[in-house]
Order: sequence, then C-alpha cells, then structure tokens
Amino acid sequence: MRKAIFPGSFDPVTLGHTEIVARATALFDEVIVAIGANSAKASFFTLDERLEMLRLSFADIPNVRVQAYSNLTVDFARDEGARFLLRGLRTGQDLDYERPIALINRHMDARLETVFFITSGEHSHISSTLVREVIRYGRDAAGLVPPQILPLIHTKQKGVAP
Ligand code: ADP
Repeated sequence: MRKAIFPGSFDPVTLGHTEIVARATALFDEVIVAIGANSAKASFFTLDERLEMLRLSFADIPNVRVQAYSNLTVDFARDEGARFLLRGLRTGQDLDYERPIALINRHMDARLETVFFITSGEHSHISSTLVREVIRYGRDAAGLVPPQILPLIHTKQKGVAP
C-alpha cells in the first residue's frame, strides 16, 4: 500500500492545500494530512480547530486521514509506514525553502522520498499567512478556503478582535 504524508501547519487549511491533496489521492492509496504539533511556530487556530477544519475539508474523500503528530516528520512517516512526503510549490521561493528540508529528511531516512506538486495558477497566490490576515480583519475568506470550514471561521472571527 502506497502511503503518503502531507505535513504542514494548516493554519488554516486553504484551497491550495486541498488541491494538492485531491491530486495526491489519485497517486497514493492513502494520504495522511498531518499537523506537526511541535513546531516552534505559534498558531492562530488551535490544534483542535485545525484538526476539525481538516476533517471537514476531507470528509468526502475516503483515502484521506487527518492526524496530528509531535515527533520529527521522518519518525512519524516511519511509524505510519509511509515512504512519501508531499509538499506544494507555488514559487521559486518555496523551492528554496523546501530543498534543504527534503535533503535533510532523505539524509535521516534514505527510503523517504519527498514528492513536490506545482500548484495551479488559480491557487498559487493563496497562503495560510495571507488568509489569516483576511480572517483577522473580519473579511470574507470564501474563495480562499474550503467552503465547509467557513462557519468555523465565522465563529473564530466573532471571538477575535484585530
Ligand atoms: P508549513 O508550516 O509546513 O509550511 P503550511 O500549512 O503552510 O505548512 O503548508 C503545507 C504545505 O502546503 C507546504 O508544502 C506548502 O508549500 C504547501 N502550500 C501552502 N499553500 C499552498 C498553495 N496555495 N498551493 C500549493 N501548496 C501550498
């Protein structure tokens, strides 16, 4: 069984992420969308909120699983029996950022292959960072995130003043 892990912060999940996952499900038997919970980054959405948004986004895709992990990504992949890591590339800047990470991961586990997906033009301007700004200032995130998570975002907007 070909298992792949799509690791990230998903703070929040966007249409860029869901595009990558949809394309990956055609190539792999199971795609585990995994939130790295030990990252040094402080998050805007809590871990539970991010997990819930991922579950809502992928509820209709049977070979997608949503999971949080707190160890190193390579160790999580090994424990899951996954040999592929998925990452998305929007720009050359993304490639510069991803290259050393992929090489270090391969150094730690030579069987682990990082597979890159180039985003379609339609989604290449979307980042979680920009979507957070839209949300923080009370604007509409429709067209940037999966429609299923909009109610959760509205709830968050009611509780967060800029
Ligand atoms: P991280 O904090 O690990 O970068 P993100 O949740 O920001 O986590 O991103 C997870 C992965 O999704 C990364 O490979 C990132 O490049 C990719 N990604 C983010 N936004 C998009 C997008 N709009 N299109 C394609 N890939 C994207």
